[in-house]
Amino acid sequence: MGCCQRNPDSSRTNRARNDKSEGIHSNCDFKLSTNASDSSAFYNDSVKTWDIIIVGGGIIGLSLAISLRKRGASVLVLEKGEPGREASHAAAGMLADHGDEFPPALAPLARASARMYPEFVHEIQDESGIKVDLRDAGTILLHEGARESHGALPAPLSELEPALDCAGRSASYLKERSVNPRLLLGAALKAARHREVDISSGAEVTEVLVDNGAACGVQTTKTTYHAKVVVNCAGAWAGQFPPMSVPTRPVKGQILSVIGGPPLRHVVRTPEVYLVPRSDGPIVIGGTLEEAGYDKHVLPETIQRLLQLATSLVPSLAKAQIHEAWAGLRPDTADKLPILGETLIGGYYAATGHFRDGILLAPITAQVMTELILDKACSQDLSPFSPARFSTTQAKNFLQAV
Ligand SMILES: Cc1cc2nc3c(=O)[nH]c(=O)nc-3n(C[C@H](O)[C@H](O)[C@H](O)COP(=O)(O)OP(=O)(O)OC[C@H]3O[C@@H](n4cnc5c(N)ncnc54)[C@H](O)[C@@H]3O)c2cc1C
Repeated sequence: MGCCQRNPDSSRTNRARNDKSEGIHSNCDFKLSTNASDSSAFYNDSVKTWDIIIVGGGIIGLSLAISLRKRGASVLVLEKGEPGREASHAAAGMLADHGDEFPPALAPLARASARMYPEFVHEIQDESGIKVDLRDAGTILLHEGARESHGALPAPLSELEPALDCAGRSASYLKERSVNPRLLLGAALKAARHREVDISSGAEVTEVLVDNGAACGVQTTKTTYHAKVVVNCAGAWAGQFPPMSVPTRPVKGQILSVIGGPPLRHVVRTPEVYLVPRSDGPIVIGGTLEEAGYDKHVLPETIQRLLQLATSLVPSLAKAQIHEAWAGLRPDTADKLPILGETLIGGYYAATGHFRDGILLAPITAQVMTELILDKACSQDLSPFSPARFSTTQAKNFLQAV
């Protein structure tokens, strides 16, 4: 876990070097708190502290860590497993900001985040040297009846996707992008390390520590870490450690990829199934929405059913082979909206509950949370996403249903 044994002075020097082109904002001229007199009883000179601790190393935690670090804050990401191996690793990677699937209150954030994607990816690719397969061929949406809110096809369907059989359904076109989440996560992790975000994996956060009504650090299964700001980015596990104020729960998604299928260009979506092509050949086919607690087993019959649904749209998939099948846990909330903001405990923030759209929403989440934490102001209206919107009883009932 080498990060915590680093010499704080060398970290400070490196940080200054890294921040040379970023211009540290005057509101966040963070310094490592090594002065015993400046904080609670357990601070002491021999303990390294951070400005901000992020719980969870998925796409949300890593994007936020990079964004905060760019503004000069020292950041520690604590990950119980391996960074980027949970929901973010399981995602298909559609950047679906035009669909009807999410609540209207989320539309402004979704659109803003989709607009930010090219720049977000450009920076991460640049800092990591990893290409993340951002594609912009668009999405073909198949549906029963006309959908006036969606765009007309730019060319006949038989030209756009010769392998697709729309079986009497209407088709419309959405100008959406897609990305390969696994490449994105690998790149974000490398970019975070490049920026000297400290990352500790393999120990679970068991509690957010509170002193005088304000966050002062976290307890893990191995040790204690200190910071005046803690951000819960723990995805489907965000409600599993005290204080229990960030109620999310898992919704399982099973998904597969095939190789040897036809060369699809567009994402294809129906209400029952979606197909997401990757530039190097595989097609990802997903995904189920299941209330199954924290179970991540992959069931062959479910995978076969998804493949059959896909084959009914693209008959030549009958010749394709299953390359991989997997499952992940989406972080759901009681009203299907993410939880973004400061909790009732000062300095304890939540950035989680992104349900089916966490890959899409990563850039805007990183931006608004950075503004909120460092500037105490925000360029977007975050009131619909406030952690305070759930009563204690609502939160308890929601968590108990897992
Ligand atoms: C099958 C499937 C398909 C999807 N497709 C898409 C898509 O096409 N487009 C899209 O935008 N979104 C999609 N999603 C949703 C998206 O994957 C999630 O919204 C997003 O990954 C959430 O990111 P996260 O960082 O909050 O959570 P995660 O990636 O789950 O990260 C949370 C991290 O916190 C860690 N953690 C939890 N508790 C603790 C603790 N106590 N201490 C330390 N670490 C902890 C976990 O180990 C985990 O690594 C899909 C999800 C699934 C399952």
